[in-house]
Amino acid sequence: MEKFVLGIDIGGTNSKVGLIDESGSIAFREIFPTKSEESFDIYLPRLKEIVDKLLTITGKVPIGIGVGAPNANFLTGMVHEPPNLSWGSVDLKKRFEELFKLPTFVDNDANLAAVSELLWGCASGVKHLLVVTLGTGVGTGIIIDGNVLQGAFGGAGEGGHIEIVPNGRACGCGGAGHLEAYASATGMKLTIKEILGSDVDLALLGTALKSGDKDALKIFGESAKYLGKGLASMATILFPEMVVLTGGVMNAGPIFLEMIRAEFEKMILDLLEEK
Ligand SMILES: [Zn+2]
Repeated sequence: MEKFVLGIDIGGTNSKVGLIDESGSIAFREIFPTKSEESFDIYLPRLKEIVDKLLTITGKVPIGIGVGAPNANFLTGMVHEPPNLSWGSVDLKKRFEELFKLPTFVDNDANLAAVSELLWGCASGVKHLLVVTLGTGVGTGIIIDGNVLQGAFGGAGEGGHIEIVPNGRACGCGGAGHLEAYASATGMKLTIKEILGSDVDLALLGTALKSGDKDALKIFGESAKYLGKGLASMATILFPEMVVLTGGVMNAGPIFLEMIRAEFEKMILDLLEEK
């Protein structure tokens, strides 16, 4: 009988639940708002309801759960004060295992994005990989020699919190001038307000970018400038074979990607380019 696992992706805006088969295909999926202002104790029963519904509809019995969440730690199973959720610190692995009675594995959403790109995405066979997730926040997953870089205590890969602008915008982590404060969807909304003087929907601007809209070019150009700088710093240390950009912000498409590439190439050391 084919085995299934439950995959749960907890984002700052939306949560996704999927039943995944052994080939990595998502057999069934469901998406619902995370409601970041709510506590974990209110979130968990809502999630349980969605999972129960999915299992009832499909009649499948999963063998385990994999959870991706912001600030989650693979080694401890904890989520530690994610800046985009009002959860404080939660023993996610323990709470999930108590509730669902299934073995649960937890990691940072960006680390899992890197593993997915390696196993089933565009980075098959790549040994040194940098994956950057651009959503409500900015996450980075790093693969070195085919393994996820966990660092001491499982905390490696916080590339969203490198300083890009000295004494710049406040970041959700409590710091200032970090990449996340500029290149995440949240940061880009601030850029929109600063440059256009009003709240224009980011997804709409992403669509407008595809037809060369001037305002969209300005907003995405700002973000590309900061991303190019941040990615160049990370690549100088890591020397990855490939950099993958993913997450909702990348729905803006190939024009945005080319803008980031141009900025990245401007910033990168000749040393890296030649190799
Ligand atoms: Zn930060």
